[in-house]
Amino acid sequence: MRVIDSHCHLDSEQFNDDREAVIERALAAGVDTMVAIGSGDGPPDLEVGVRLADCYPFIYATIGVHPHDAAKATAETYTRLEELTSHPKVVAIGEIGLDFHYDHSPRDVQRSVFIEQVRIARDAHLPIVIHTRTAWDDTMALLREHWAPSGLGGIIHCFSEGPREAEQALAIGFHISFAGIVTFPKAIAIQDAARLTPADRLLIETDAPYLAPVPKRGKRNEPAYVIETARKLAELRGVTPEEIAKTTSANWRRLVGLADPLD
Ligand SMILES: [Zn+2]
Ligand SMILES: [Zn+2]
Repeated sequence: MRVIDSHCHLDSEQFNDDREAVIERALAAGVDTMVAIGSGDGPPDLEVGVRLADCYPFIYATIGVHPHDAAKATAETYTRLEELTSHPKVVAIGEIGLDFHYDHSPRDVQRSVFIEQVRIARDAHLPIVIHTRTAWDDTMALLREHWAPSGLGGIIHCFSEGPREAEQALAIGFHISFAGIVTFPKAIAIQDAARLTPADRLLIETDAPYLAPVPKRGKRNEPAYVIETARKLAELRGVTPEEIAKTTSANWRRLVGLADPLD
């Protein structure tokens, strides 16, 4: 199997003792591409993903200010993000969005930092990676107004809603990325969304080190475990895990405009 982990936090300090081994295990499991999310601890460091992508040919990066860190963004942050959009390994702006569950930054600041980054993505013709928690309707409203007209698309990462919300995101051109929580027995609405998402809009991720899939639940998550989520999606959709891996890899490459190195 060859599969892409479209969202992991390889910079996390939870990997400081064994990052190299974690990456080796991912490659051994068939994860041939990993996307290092660049949010880190927020500004002023915007390059936690880029630094990893610079070291490994199979790692790509995103750049962006997480809604948790929105209050740390300044004019320099946007200038630097604009510069980084031309880095050859940067494939998307993210994760950006709204998080009204934790409210680590004031909501009006989260909104304005989100809108500013959507503008940067639009100008750079890059897709966006959306984090949204307890803020679905607000996120959709901002995306409809500020993003959908660009036609550039993006990813709803770690999708945690149900069929109705999946339909709304699909209607404005988004891909839906399923993470470990789709394997949790009580995640019925997420599983229903995973069944109805069209094959050409399906993505898969770990969001490592967070929320490991069953049967690794409760442990530190790592990119190799994306296989478990592929298995669950396969079961839900009545196809093989290999088919899920192939489809989601092709979808990711199409979205970010990269050719399959083996083609
Ligand atoms: Zn997130
Ligand atoms: Zn994440």
